Amino acid sequence: MKLATKLIHAGIEPDPSTGAIMTPIYQTSTYVQESPGKHKGYEYARTQNPTRNALQNALAAIENGKYGLCFSSGLAATVAVIKLLNPGDEVIAANDMYGGTYRIFTKVFQKYGLKFHFINMQDANGISKYINKNTRLIWTETPTNPMMNITDIEAVASITKKSNILLCVDNTFASPYLQNPLDRGADIVLHSATKYLGGHSDVVHGCLILKDASLNEKLSFIQNSCGAVPGPQDCFLVLRGLKTLHVRMERHCQNGEKIAKWLRNNGKVDKVFWCGFEDHPNHLVAKKQMRGFGGMMSFTLKDDRIEAANKVLSSTKLFSLAESLGGVESLIGHPASMTHASIPREERIKNGLVDSLMRLSVGIEDADDLIADLDQAIG
Ligand SMILES: *Cc1c(COP(=O)(O)O)cnc(C)c1O
Repeated sequence: MKLATKLIHAGIEPDPSTGAIMTPIYQTSTYVQESPGKHKGYEYARTQNPTRNALQNALAAIENGKYGLCFSSGLAATVAVIKLLNPGDEVIAANDMYGGTYRIFTKVFQKYGLKFHFINMQDANGISKYINKNTRLIWTETPTNPMMNITDIEAVASITKKSNILLCVDNTFASPYLQNPLDRGADIVLHSATKYLGGHSDVVHGCLILKDASLNEKLSFIQNSCGAVPGPQDCFLVLRGLKTLHVRMERHCQNGEKIAKWLRNNGKVDKVFWCGFEDHPNHLVAKKQMRGFGGMMSFTLKDDRIEAANKVLSSTKLFSLAESLGGVESLIGHPASMTHASIPREERIKNGLVDSLMRLSVGIEDADDLIADLDQAIG
């Protein structure tokens, strides 16, 4: 089955009690048993919920996995993966990933005796020298947030497979429409479904998708034991969002390309970071592993004072100044003061995340209107 069909049909059955075509929101905490242990497969709603199950099955199908696991947020899904580890274990992570992931690793989990190495993952060969007998997990994100760097998933997977290390790929920016990391050797795919999967900026939700049965057993155990599960209403919203992922992503890609090219030709703009440009340093890898280049990009101004960026950030009318991404409406953000404020300034600047860098999540409005908005704001 092709993705467009899976997005609408996978995991979904008409509701057995009424035939409702849309999976109902099973707003219940428990399920009545006929006699002790005799039930319909549902005992308690932290453990199982039919709305969540439908979404988990849909997610597994869409990412070409076998198992989907839903969490109350993207970061709750991240935490579940880290809880697979034991004190003394080491993790190799990309040095320019989502600020909240960096914060969890350094501020929450380091004190439990886990060791994190943050490295440039654009060169997969550079990973090998950080691998030792304690390395258990490689964590990467591609494209990265906000520098739009690309990791070669296949190249990293060839290293993890040799050394029996888990590879987790945060696929939030690409979405399953553009990229399927499990097909390229990743063990776990993570999404903040808050972004493209939900797609309408109305829900916070996260998920993991995987193929291996014993890994699924461990992560399901953590999901149920630790309890960071989403409510059924949130699962319903993500299920509904999935049904239009393909049409939304097509438009995100079209608009993204038009705006990236327009920005590049604007005399006041300095650099534009978008992996669709042929001279993007990792463009060939992006072309190999992605079906399109999406609507996420960052740019800097020739006037690199923070005041110049602030003027743009407060002048756009269609691009709303807000954290988050992946919704139908266009957003503009300032990573240094917003999403990446939790990363020390020296660390940020080392990775190219300067104070004047602005990030766009290009929505699915009319591209001409979006360009006119940027034009008046950049001035
Ligand atoms: C937003 C985001 C997360 C965290 O997800 P939440 O749903 O906000 O917890 C993780 N990774 C990436 C790339 C994100 O954009």
